[in-house]
Amino acid sequence: MGEKKHPEKTRAVFILKTTEDVLCAYSEIFSGEYDIIETSKDENYISILKKHFPDISVIIIDASSSASVVTETVKKIKSDDVLLSLPVIVIGDDSMAESEETFLMSGVSLFMTRTSKTSVVLLRTANLINLRESAESGTISEYDEITGLYNRQAFLERAEKIVADNSEEDYVICIAELDGIKVYNEKNGKSAGDELFRSIGLFLKNASDPYVLAGRFAGDQFVVLLKKNDEFAGNIYSLTIRESDNILKRDIGVENIRIRFALYEDIEHDIPMSETCERALLALQTIRGKYGKTIARYEHSILSEHRKKERIESSMKEALEKNQFEVYYQPKHDVNTGELTGAEALIRWNHPEYGFMSPKDFIPVFENNGFISEVDNFVWKRTCQNLRKWISEGIEVVPISINASKLDFINPDFFDKIHEASTKMNVPPGLLHIEVTESLFSDQIEELVSILTKCQKNGYKIELDDFGSGYSSLNTLSILPLDIVKMDMSLVKAITNFKSMRVFSACINLAKSLGLKTVSEGVETNEQMWTIQELGGDSIQGYLYSKPLSEKDFEEYLKVKRVVRKPLSPGTVISK
Ligand code: C2E
Ligand code: CA
Ligand code: CA
Repeated sequence: MGEKKHPEKTRAVFILKTTEDVLCAYSEIFSGEYDIIETSKDENYISILKKHFPDISVIIIDASSSASVVTETVKKIKSDDVLLSLPVIVIGDDSMAESEETFLMSGVSLFMTRTSKTSVVLLRTANLINLRESAESGTISEYDEITGLYNRQAFLERAEKIVADNSEEDYVICIAELDGIKVYNEKNGKSAGDELFRSIGLFLKNASDPYVLAGRFAGDQFVVLLKKNDEFAGNIYSLTIRESDNILKRDIGVENIRIRFALYEDIEHDIPMSETCERALLALQTIRGKYGKTIARYEHSILSEHRKKERIESSMKEALEKNQFEVYYQPKHDVNTGELTGAEALIRWNHPEYGFMSPKDFIPVFENNGFISEVDNFVWKRTCQNLRKWISEGIEVVPISINASKLDFINPDFFDKIHEASTKMNVPPGLLHIEVTESLFSDQIEELVSILTKCQKNGYKIELDDFGSGYSSLNTLSILPLDIVKMDMSLVKAITNFKSMRVFSACINLAKSLGLKTVSEGVETNEQMWTIQELGGDSIQGYLYSKPLSEKDFEEYLKVKRVVRKPLSPGTVISK
């Protein structure tokens, strides 16, 4: 017999005997395939049927009495609103064959005689059950229960057909996502949330041109296929923001829920609708968490960025195993004496397919997926190995700073891990600095302070990176155990302007007053360097002295170019 379609669902056959006399053991025949519920007409079979209704796939009437008793029984079953949908099979004597038409008219789906082969009885029963189940899945699953809109699958199929059948039309896919529904549900109860969805569903169901088709895409997401007519571009605001505001605020009285929209205009007719919607979702992703951004428009660059991210993620582990990551070192020099004071380790990815990749492309991806900890660990170990090699070869080394990410500190063994690596390589902790950024300290500040304090007490120096960029909080300077503050490139770039110079000067003085040294980043010109000299900065890092160098080139730099430069005077040109 055929395979069961829903192996997880119990299928039961309800056998109703019209007399107590057992003429054929149907329960035995069906019990190999189905659960059996067996009763006689003398029992209260309607209530037994209702009790087991969800599990029952078919009713078999073992017709051992007159045809009229059978018809009467069937009519009773079919007059019940719930039981009506259950298919009924009558199995009776050959003599009953002449009543077959009456049976069928009363609602029986199939009549078989007792002389039918057992295998035929089973096959016909299975076919009938399958027919009912597929008919049910067709009707039940087309619509979303709460909103009454098409569900995702039904929407995709229908929208795809509409777009394919109307190749001359331009269409737009709009995905709307509710922001704040979780809090709304928590505050007002799930039924209020459902009511909200229902109202949106009602609006979309009744909306006319340019709305073509609407569906519930997923939890708090709705999807609409719109026709792109001449007024569309001008109307987009009223179609999205104003209308949603009206539904939420005026009609339902909800204040704290906002809707974000992703629009995929001029959708391509030959791309599957599921792919089109996935792309719209990628666009939506770009404005999530960005306050005030309500509409995201899909552009191909969003897809290429996404694909790039996917490529990065699929090849990152292999990259580490196959040594595709390289550590570069960017020198830091004393702004007054020109002496080499240190270097910063910066990761590079030499990808066999995509070539040399900038950390700006892959670090954010790694920070997102957690792989950054592996990379930072690699940079730390590699730097320890290099320092050991250079020291052993008698090369005079300088402290090297290594960037640390938020995720590094989630690992409670951070200190043990770095300390073990440097001890193993016999590198004095004073030669290793840890660069941290303020964003690290948004949460779990106490744990972070305690880990960094442990590092500092053991001789590692702590540098605060990117000071003055983004949302600097001066408070960070007093909370963190720090040794050095790195002035962000943006502060350095701005020092041509008098006011910015005052800000820069105040930052340097603040660091000094706290007993901290400064490194100014992104120094590209002599003018910048002289200003930093004048304002009392300590070290500088930037293209003026050197770009980040490969291990080999940095080794050379340590040997040759580390010569102390004379304090530079205006007009001196330094070769890069
Ligand atoms: P960052 O830590 O602020 O590093 C300084 C960045 O400025 C480096 O970019 C460097 O090449 C660049 N730079 C240096 N001098 C100049 C200059 O004079 N002008 C200009 N325009 N740029 C200059 P890079 O190497 O592309 O790194 C970008 C960022 O990636 C780094 O910013 C850091 O946040 C991150 N990063 C790099 N390597 C690592 C690493 O090993 N681990 C972690 N967690 N992050 C890293
Ligand atoms: Ca850095
Ligand atoms: Ca920096």
